[in-house]
Amino acid sequence: MALEFRCQDVGVACKDVAKAETAEELVAAVAAHAKAKHGVELNQTLIDYAVTKVRPGRG
Ligand SMILES: [Zn+2]
Repeated sequence: MALEFRCQDVGVACKDVAKAETAEELVAAVAAHAKAKHGVELNQTLIDYAVTKVRPGRG
């Protein structure tokens, strides 16, 4: 099942949605996006928080 993460779900005014097949890939995609688009380097606390906001993709 695909997974997805929305910046909006963590209170960021951003319409981007990261999608991946595994949690590891998704974390990597979110980390890359956060750095590239938001200038934020994800630390373990932020990753742990982001993981709680991951939801199943809608196909
Ligand atoms: Zn974003």
